[in-house]
Order: sequence, then C-alpha cells, then structure tokens
Amino acid sequence: MTFRDLNLSKPLWNALDDAGYTKPTTIQAKAFSVIMSGRDVQGIAQTGTGKTIAYLLPSLKMWTFSKDRHPQILIIVPTRELVVQVVSQVEEIAKYTSAVVRGVYGGTNLKTQAAEIADGLDIIVGTPGRLLDLGYHGALNLKMIKKLVIDEVDEMLALGFRSQLEHLMDLLPERRQNLLFSATITEDVVALIDNYFNTPEKVEAAPSGSPLSNINQGLYRVPNFNTKVNLLELLLKSKPEMTKILLFVSTKALADELFEHIGRTYPDSTGVIHSNKDQNFRFNAVNKFQDGTFRILIATDIIARGLDIEDVSHVINFDMPDEPQNYVHRIGRTGRADKKGESISLVGDLDVDWLEEVQEFMKYEIPVLTLPEDLVISDVLTDAELPKVNMKNILGKLPKVKDDSGAFHEKKAKNKKINVKIRYRDKMHAKYGKPKSRGDKKKK
Ligand code: AMP
Repeated sequence: MTFRDLNLSKPLWNALDDAGYTKPTTIQAKAFSVIMSGRDVQGIAQTGTGKTIAYLLPSLKMWTFSKDRHPQILIIVPTRELVVQVVSQVEEIAKYTSAVVRGVYGGTNLKTQAAEIADGLDIIVGTPGRLLDLGYHGALNLKMIKKLVIDEVDEMLALGFRSQLEHLMDLLPERRQNLLFSATITEDVVALIDNYFNTPEKVEAAPSGSPLSNINQGLYRVPNFNTKVNLLELLLKSKPEMTKILLFVSTKALADELFEHIGRTYPDSTGVIHSNKDQNFRFNAVNKFQDGTFRILIATDIIARGLDIEDVSHVINFDMPDEPQNYVHRIGRTGRADKKGESISLVGDLDVDWLEEVQEFMKYEIPVLTLPEDLVISDVLTDAELPKVNMKNILGKLPKVKDDSGAFHEKKAKNKKINVKIRYRDKMHAKYGKPKSRGDKKKK
C-alpha cells in the first residue's frame, strides 16, 4: 500500500513525496477512513508510530479555506517541545496548501502570540495552559473549531491538565469531530472519554502496553549506581554501533549527576535535558542530539515524552521508571516508523520491583544480557542505596559506610562477591517488609 491508495489530494501527495514518505504506517492506514467518516476517534498509538501524520492527513484533506481566518483545527499537546514538533510536521505536510499553522506555549510573550493569531490562522497547536490564557484573553476565538485533536491524552492527564482540558472544551462549539490519541488507556483516559466523548471509534497501532515489535529489548542486572556508571562507560567505549543514545533517568537530580560522570569522559558529545533547564537550553540540547553533535542525550521521562528524534540507535534506561507505561514510552523513542531499534535497561537492586511491574504490564519478560567480563563491580553505595529502616533502635546499629565517593574498587566481575551492605538490606527487607520509598526516586 502507498499513500496514492489513500484518497488524498495533489498538494498532500506532493508534500509526502518531498518528505520521502511513500508507505503509510499501520496507524496512518487504519485511521484514515475512520477519521474521514467524521466519527470521533480514539487512536491508541505510541510516538514513533507515525500518529501525528495519521491525524494530520485526513484533517488537512477535509479542511477548507474560510475567509474569517479563525482556526478550524485545534491540536492540544502536553509539552512545548511537542508543540514545536507538531507545528513543523504540519508545515511539512501542508506546505502546498494555503493552511496557516501557529504554535503557542507558556513561557513566551502572550502579546506576541496574540498578535500572530490576530493575523489569521487555520490550525493552532498548543499546550493547554497557554491556549486557555489566549482564549480567556479574547485573543483566540475557538468558536470555529471543527476538529479537536488531543495528543498524548494519557500524559496530559498524568501531568494534571484535566481541568484545563475541560475548561478548554467549554470554549469549543458542540458540533465538532474529536480525535484523541493516547499511548496507553489508563483509568483517567477512560473516565475523560466517558464524560466528554461519544463512544469514539478505536483505532490501534499496537495493543495497549505491548512492546513495539521492532525493538530488541535487553537488560543487565547490576547491583548499584556506581556499577551502572562503570557498565555504561564500558558500553560507550566498546560499542561504536551505539551512535545515538537516549539515556533515561527518573529524576532531574540523577540526570544532572549522570551528566557530571558521562560529561567528564565525553564533554563534547553529551547533552542533558529536564524541566529545570530553560527553554533555549532544552531546544539547543535536542537540536544538537538531532544533528548528531551529541551522541548521548540524558533525559527525564516527562521532557522526553513525545520528542521525535530521528534514528535513535539505542535507548538506555539507566533506571526503571516508576510508571510502567513510561518504559514503553522510553523505548518507543527508538525503532521509530517501522525501523529497528535497541533498548537496554540497567536494573539495579532498587529497580527490581519496578522491573516486575514493567514486565507484568507488557506481558513480556525482557531478556537478561551477560555482563561484560571486564566490568568492575563497585561496592560503594550512594545515599539512596543505603539501607533505610524507620526504627530508632535499628538505626543506631546500622553499619558504618565508608564514603570514598567515585573511587571504584578495581575488582573484576568474576572475582567479586557482591557487597555485604546489600545483603544486610535484604535481611532488613525480610524482617521488616519492603521499604515504602525508593529514596530520591519519588522526589521528582
Ligand atoms: P510520530 O509517531 O507522529 O511522532 O512520528 C514518528 C516519525 O515517523 C516522524 O519523524 C515522522 O516524520 C515519521 N513518519 C511518519 N509517517 C511516516 C511514514 N509514512 N514513512 C516514514 N516516516 C514516517
């Protein structure tokens, strides 16, 4: 099947040709006729499946020029990065049509955006907060909206955008087509759909939670943070095929800490992004990763969500995410648009429970990889890895921990029994049950 088999139009076919897209992806082929029929649609698709173009093609095909120039298509996405990305995809696909697109997001001048909108536009892409501000401000008239696209619905709700979405929908005309895209169907997603939408038709790229079939997954079982760093450095050194690596961590603090370690060895080819970095820094880091200047980009879940970066050769999970869905999102950054991808997870003692949740969620057991012979196993624990027992009398008896931070013991994997402190912690687990927190990890 090619795009010529879809009832598009010359301007759209020509734009697809220019972009080098010949064959529709699964979700593009499946969604087209359903969206064209005018029904509400619930698309279940991760980023990387081509879902953006899946909703853009029929939306642009159905779009007709109107003189008043109020937007007819509203696309809501959770992050600023995604606004920029979707706008550029619209520009690419709509370049031979007269449709004008604008992107709006917070942290930029409201008046400038209001002025751009006043010039007239057909498609608006934005984050919920800024769209609402512009709507309340009177700068953005949403009464002509014919199509509402909510992209990454699950993420939007996880980020707490529910009430903003609801307020935005109050500003829209009743008669419109709703297109909802979500990688996973969480309880919140179901509740939103039940309350606001009329049994949308389901179109699925891959079953919810299932790993993408074109990604090879593997994991290394290691005891602790410092051994993970050793392993990572070893992999970076010995595997030139790892050309473009997205390295995920769960917290901003860990992202910065890892950047210090890896950035020391690879100062010119390592970048980091998380939500404490300012917008320019974030764009810059993503661009340098995109154009190949950076071989490694360290990122937290929220920021990397939905980022479309071409040809990511490897996703490395430095730790397991505490939401199993995020694992699927992370690995979905590689193996995009039906290409092969690799994902490697470093599973430490503190990740084991989260690994189980991920595997349960995917109904898939990630194959365990053999540790490299020359891996140095460290027995130096970080604060988060030290045993935590919330009982005064026990705390008094905790063994002293030597802190010679960063200086790894030169012991080879095969010669080394793994550290005593972990076993002590396991003993504590057995006696007092599982600890409730995983240290810093929850403090996002
Ligand atoms: P998305 O899932 O929308 O984030 O898209 C993932 C990537 O796939 C983007 O870089 C698109 O430009 C690319 N893409 C989308 N559709 C196709 C297609 N039919 N053929 C090749 N690449 C595509």
